[in-house]
Amino acid sequence: MEDTIAAVATAYGEGGIGIIRISGEKALSVLNAFFRPMRKHMKQKEQKNVFEPDSVGMTNGEPIVNRRLTYGHIIDYNTNQVLDEVLAVYMKAPYTYTTEDVVEINCHGSIVSLRKVLELVLKSGARMADPGEFTKRAFLNGRLDLTQAEAVIDLIKAKSDKSFDVALGQLDGTLSKNIEQIRNLLMDELVNITVNIDYPDEDIEEITYDTLLNNLLQIGDMIQKLIDSADTGRIIKEGFKVAIVGKPNVGKSSLMNALLRENRAIVTDVPGTTRDTIVEDITIKSIPVKLIDTAGIHHTEDQVEKIGIEKSKESFNEADLVLLILDGSQPLSIEDQEIIEVIGARRTIVLINKMDLGQVVDEKKLLEEMPKASFIHTSVKNGQGIDEIEDKMEELVFNGEVKQSGSTFITNVRHANLLVSAKSALEDAIHMVRLGEALEFIEIDVKRSFELLGEIIGETVSESVIDEVFSRFCLGK
Ligand code: GDP
Ligand code: ZN
Repeated sequence: MEDTIAAVATAYGEGGIGIIRISGEKALSVLNAFFRPMRKHMKQKEQKNVFEPDSVGMTNGEPIVNRRLTYGHIIDYNTNQVLDEVLAVYMKAPYTYTTEDVVEINCHGSIVSLRKVLELVLKSGARMADPGEFTKRAFLNGRLDLTQAEAVIDLIKAKSDKSFDVALGQLDGTLSKNIEQIRNLLMDELVNITVNIDYPDEDIEEITYDTLLNNLLQIGDMIQKLIDSADTGRIIKEGFKVAIVGKPNVGKSSLMNALLRENRAIVTDVPGTTRDTIVEDITIKSIPVKLIDTAGIHHTEDQVEKIGIEKSKESFNEADLVLLILDGSQPLSIEDQEIIEVIGARRTIVLINKMDLGQVVDEKKLLEEMPKASFIHTSVKNGQGIDEIEDKMEELVFNGEVKQSGSTFITNVRHANLLVSAKSALEDAIHMVRLGEALEFIEIDVKRSFELLGEIIGETVSESVIDEVFSRFCLGK
């Protein structure tokens, strides 16, 4: 039999309430050991439909009703002291988070209360849960597949609306269904192959290498589509890294401020200032964006604003997008040229700023030098062109594709790696089909592809992978 586990499920610190969660077959007996309900509930008078208070008072072992929140005291049975006044609920298996019996105790949210009650819980037959153990049990008991369990981590850690939405979809099983669909198609091919190997002379529809090739190619395309979504998926999860560059006085700080004003910063865990650059986390169109002011240094040097091209280079390399600002009211300078050279072929939006002063810069020449860049005319000082910048960023994140609400994004590195391996196994199979090799050999690679996809949802996965996944959880989840 599995142990009964317990942990504080809410964040530590001062809060209105803090919740202790207990899961396992002893959950109810643990609760009964120290919980004294104060029944003051209303009893319905059948005929009159009138409610009347009915005080039951402190009763030891008062039956607790499944799924009903009960008000009462936690009594330390060693000292007879009241530890806290709580609301407790017992949820009977199997329709619970873990599929086991679950108890949740809503204590007052101080660390003191939670620690004392948890100690009592642990003395009464439960043991401390490992990080992620509740969710691991939900997975091992078959309530969640591995992608859904991973979605729980992502939901907890989500820092933008968009990443929360994607995780919620994944918890709902959108990714799993997608993978299952591909696996079913592979299974069809495997069955065909196996039948043809086992009964080569029977009157079974013979597998033709042409159909097999076509089908495998189609399946390969489906896998590739998921792989292609990983770039967007990573950005949704980690943030779109945008480096703001340009020589002094073109309007970098003004732009940074304009973007910050409109898009409230929601993340504070990254310190605002790194050594040479200022990073600001904002949300643009529900996409998390990390704005890197590469010339953060120019404000730390007193007299001469100096651009550190070498330093900027480093942040270019991290960036998903470069926002180059030029002073449109001036001709291109040598400094501008140097920066353009350093940017090279990186994905770039060029802002021709200070349009309110009239355009002087030679745009034709710019287009020649940066043929792949997007150009936007702005007057940052007057707030002109900011919306256009935001639209363009969104477009780039979604690779110019129209966003579909139901579309699946791969946001998890583990999934992305397995998809790449599955695709490569499939390509091996396709190669052998083309060469007309024996079905026995083809079968091996198709099967490998099938199994690698199974690892994503946790169907064919080793214990060490499972441990690895759940080690990323926090305590109490
Ligand atoms: P940075 O050195 O690149 O960070 O540039 P700043 O943002 O500090 O701006 C330098 C100067 O240009 C400031 O006086 C701004 O008010 C001004 N500035 C910024 N954008 C515009 C604009 O679109 N039009 C005009 N006329 N001035 C601007
Ligand atoms: Zn500045």
